Amino acid sequence: MVFPGKKKIYIFFFVFLLIIAGFYFFRRAEQEINLYSQAEFFMDTVVSIKIGEDPAVEKAVNKAFEVMKKEAIRLNRYKEDSVIYKINYSDGKTINIERDIFLLLKKAKKYQELSGGAFDISIAPLVDLWGFGKEKQRVPEDYEIKEILPLIDSNKLLLQKEYEQYRVYLPSEMSLDLGAIAKGYIIDKGVESLIKSGYDSFYINAGGNIRVNGEKSPGRSWHIGIRDPATPASILTEYITALKKGSLATSGDYERFFESEGKRYSHLLNPRTGYQERSLRSATIYAPTALQADILSTAVFIKGWEEGKIFINSLENVEGVLITDDEIWLSEGFKKLLILQ
Ligand code: ADP
Ligand code: MG
Repeated sequence: MVFPGKKKIYIFFFVFLLIIAGFYFFRRAEQEINLYSQAEFFMDTVVSIKIGEDPAVEKAVNKAFEVMKKEAIRLNRYKEDSVIYKINYSDGKTINIERDIFLLLKKAKKYQELSGGAFDISIAPLVDLWGFGKEKQRVPEDYEIKEILPLIDSNKLLLQKEYEQYRVYLPSEMSLDLGAIAKGYIIDKGVESLIKSGYDSFYINAGGNIRVNGEKSPGRSWHIGIRDPATPASILTEYITALKKGSLATSGDYERFFESEGKRYSHLLNPRTGYQERSLRSATIYAPTALQADILSTAVFIKGWEEGKIFINSLENVEGVLITDDEIWLSEGFKKLLILQ
């Protein structure tokens, strides 16, 4: 048997002590902050809330989850009792919908226009053609894409308010997919619910779309990082933000994708071409609400490196980070959000 040298034992011992000390400090830091956190799995992702501990907080958090889950179902086009399912199967007839969904669709149309068609919730037929949301994905033939493209145009989604009725018309062959908007929407609903319950400092994360409000603890911001698209398990340590308000969302090619003949095909599709955009690995957006950040991260990812920068700079209260295989761009305002400036 070979015994390790004495020196080696000391090193092992030292490293062991360091780990224990690190663990101890980490625990202490968490304890000082006294955060209550709860996570649940829905919308195909982990949704979590962190909030200052107090005796009534669990009830408020449960309420927020209840609200978010209910909203998530309403927007899920695969659920028969959702309003989106109802619209998709309205068979070209005008139907009445609730006011809040009417306003959400109106917003989605506004962003379709603002993004020059990079973001479009009428993308469902294209998502289906590629097989996203289904068991099997495949690269469609060119002619199949060309056939489908005329169906992707939310200008043909008509919204009319008549007296107190909120009416929507969608041509029968078209359908809506709120996948690029739903997480943002439900986070904002969770925020509303927690504020209504009397809380003003918390963090909500739905699959990497994050919104914070207030401080983590007196004098402390919430620290939120950006994933490295090359190694998505790790974050880019130079670009950690310190936030007290607002939302961060990232759209990347590394979360949901399939590979065919060595090529990566992500679930983010350009409504104008029917194909993936390949200039960016990820687009991160900072915006006041989670809905805006969610929509804009998808829009900017599709717009790509050049157009994406111009788009971000053209929007008020919106900042962003674009990451390619070998370059990172930060808007001027985003730099001010970083811990290390
Ligand atoms: P993630 O779900 O990974 O957070 P996004 O918020 O960017 O990513 O949403 C992606 C989803 O949005 C896709 O799964 C698809 O359903 C839909 N989608 C894909 N491309 C577009 C697009 N150009 N505009 C609107 N929705 C899109
Ligand atoms: Mg999005």
